[in-house]
Amino acid sequence: MKKQIPAVKGTKDILPREARAWQSVETVVKRVCELYGYREIRTPIFEATELFEKGTGETSDIVIKEMYTFKDKGGRSLTLRPEYTPSVVRSIIENRLYLKPDPLRFYFMGPMFRYDKPQKGRFRQFHQLDVEVFAEEDPAVDAELVEMADFLLKELKVSEIQTLVNSVGCKVCRPSYITKLRTHAQKEKQELCEDCKRKVITNPLRIFDCKLETCQAIARDFPKITDFLCPECKEHFKKFCANLEFFGLEYRIEPRLVRGIDYYTKTTFEVISSKLGAQDAILGGGRYDDMMKEFGGPDICGIGFAMGMERLLSVVPVTKQKEQFLYLAYLGDEPKRAGMILAQFLRKEGVECLMEYREKSLKNQLSRANKLGATWTLIIGDDEVKKRKYQLKNMVTGQQTECSQEEILNIIRENT
Ligand SMILES: [Zn+2]
Ligand SMILES: [Zn+2]
Repeated sequence: MKKQIPAVKGTKDILPREARAWQSVETVVKRVCELYGYREIRTPIFEATELFEKGTGETSDIVIKEMYTFKDKGGRSLTLRPEYTPSVVRSIIENRLYLKPDPLRFYFMGPMFRYDKPQKGRFRQFHQLDVEVFAEEDPAVDAELVEMADFLLKELKVSEIQTLVNSVGCKVCRPSYITKLRTHAQKEKQELCEDCKRKVITNPLRIFDCKLETCQAIARDFPKITDFLCPECKEHFKKFCANLEFFGLEYRIEPRLVRGIDYYTKTTFEVISSKLGAQDAILGGGRYDDMMKEFGGPDICGIGFAMGMERLLSVVPVTKQKEQFLYLAYLGDEPKRAGMILAQFLRKEGVECLMEYREKSLKNQLSRANKLGATWTLIIGDDEVKKRKYQLKNMVTGQQTECSQEEILNIIRENT
């Protein structure tokens, strides 16, 4: 026996039955995004390492611990994207999309890569939906984005969800808050985990992201950023909340929702599900008004959210769709050829047909049709070829009819 090669640690196959569930979720996602004027954008899976270092901030956990970085044969440092926003921003600048009349509203679904410790439900290759809108300063768009996320989850029949919102301030008001926070965290430093001890110096905001209950308990008594907002940020947050109410959305202000990524400004939000346990966020997002400028582009603001597809799929209720297809069973060479032509005809007419060439006996083919749950079975032998009339069996009612090519199509169409 030759040695088998397993999948790489932290990766996972999405097998056909599972892929069906993915496809149906993806169809709903696309429809909802398009309803709100978003259009799909597809950027490369890898980018220059620099892009993500700049985008996520050099002190962020993602950059420090989790990037899939490698040198290509030309000696360039490349990174498999750990998140999507920096790629979109790069593409907008590079393609000068801001000069075109199309709205700067984009969505994307695809794999992301993080060299994280593989654990239950977390993979090194995982999938995200990303939604971004640019050049809209009005807090109405912040609220519309949250409303869209809420609508999407309702369309997918995800229940027991809650929306959390906050503001993380801006360049004007955040520094004084961080100073305050650092002083406060310094006092509790001995009680914090090793990671958080480091964050006290590098970026105390990230202490709020720590997953350890002990650190979370300490962080609950830290000062709240909402008490430190400048007049502009305060006004934006007030209007954002008013617009959420205007849309009839329920939400909770969560002052600790500061997000672990450097580029966020003003609005942040998260949708959590009580079905997910301790790691309960389904989606998270926020505003990043300075990012485009930081990347050498024009001064255009942006806001968006990302949703983990694996997590989403784990809370979308499973609806079993019955597959509708015809199994074509034949006996002998002549019937095989007639069957191939018939299958070709039916497929062109939109009927899913399965013909398996490895099963030689009619009995085996019929038992396969049964096992696979075929809706119809079409049986072709020498007699049928001569008469140009075939035996069509309805596998649900058991009724068998002798019919011509056209009649097969009519019967199937009447019954689906
Ligand atoms: Zn501010
Ligand atoms: Zn900690």
